[in-house]
Amino acid sequence: MIADVVCQIKPNASGVCLIADTPGMLRSSVVLIPWNGSLCRLLYLGRSEAEDFEIVRFLQKQKPAVLYGRPSVITKLSEVAAEHHVDIDPDLVFLSGENLFEDQRRRIEASFSRRIFNAYMATEGGMIGITCPYQNGFHVQEDRVHLEVINERGEISDEGTGHILLTNHSNRCCSFIRYLIGDVGTLKTIDCACGFQGKTIIDLPGKEAQSLHFGDRTVATSLIEEVLKRFHIKQFLVTQTALESVTVEWIPTRYDLDLAVESLRIENQINAIVGSQRCEVKVVDNITRPAGKHRRFQGLQIPTRG
Ligand SMILES: [Zn+2]
Repeated sequence: MIADVVCQIKPNASGVCLIADTPGMLRSSVVLIPWNGSLCRLLYLGRSEAEDFEIVRFLQKQKPAVLYGRPSVITKLSEVAAEHHVDIDPDLVFLSGENLFEDQRRRIEASFSRRIFNAYMATEGGMIGITCPYQNGFHVQEDRVHLEVINERGEISDEGTGHILLTNHSNRCCSFIRYLIGDVGTLKTIDCACGFQGKTIIDLPGKEAQSLHFGDRTVATSLIEEVLKRFHIKQFLVTQTALESVTVEWIPTRYDLDLAVESLRIENQINAIVGSQRCEVKVVDNITRPAGKHRRFQGLQIPTRG
C-alpha cells in the first residue's frame, strides 16, 4: 500500500510532511529522490498558536501523501486541527519513534486516516519492522536485520519474549552484532494472512514498564491504567520513584473540575492497588518525556556505578 501511494506522488508535491514538536528546529524541505522527486516538509509544532494554526491550514491545503511523525506528536496535531476545525486528509499516516497506544491509534484514525503504518525504527538498525495491515505485529525486515531475544536467564533464542538483540546487515558505517537495543518484545515466525512469511514482533512493549515491583509485590501496570481511564486524563506518566512509591503526573482534559479532589480520588484508587500511601498524584501542564519520548509507565531506575 505504501508503494502504491509513492507511485502516485508527483515531483515537487509535498510527498511527506514530517511533523515534530521541537520548535527550535528550522522549518525546511528535503527532496526525496526515490519518491519521484517529491518534497519532505519538516514542520514543527509548539512555536506559537498562530504558527500551529498555519501548519494545520498548510496541511489541509497541501493534502500530503504521507503524514509522518511520532504518535504523540501526530496526536497533538489532531488536537490542534480539531481546535481550529481544520480537516487534514493525507493518503496515509506513517508513525515511528514511540509506542503507539490503542487510544492514540483510534484518535489518529478518526482524525486523519484509517491507513496507519507504524514502524519500529532505531538509529542502530534503521527500519527494523513495520506493522502488518492485519494488525499481526511488526513484520521484521529480515533482509536488513536479524533479531533474537535474550531472556532473564541469559538464553538467546530466535523466538520468545525477552530483550531484543539486533544484528544489522546493511549499516556500512558500523555493524551491530547481537546489540542489546534496550526494548522488550516477543518474536515469532509466522505465516501471515497479509502474505508475509517470517519473523514478526508480535508484542513490543519496548521501554514501557509492564509491571512495577514493591518488595515482594508485583503490580501489572495495566491495572493502574484501568484506574486512570476512569478520569478525564489527556496524558499521564506513572513513575516508580523508590521501592515503595510511585508518582502520577497527569494533564486533565477538563479544567472545570476540582482537580485537587480528582487527584485525591486517583491517589486513593491507585493506593488500593499498589498498597497504602505509596502514590503521589499531581496535575501538571507538561510532562517531561523520558529520553525525549512519550511514555506512560516508567519503572524504577537503578543507578549504575561508575
Ligand atoms: Zn501480516
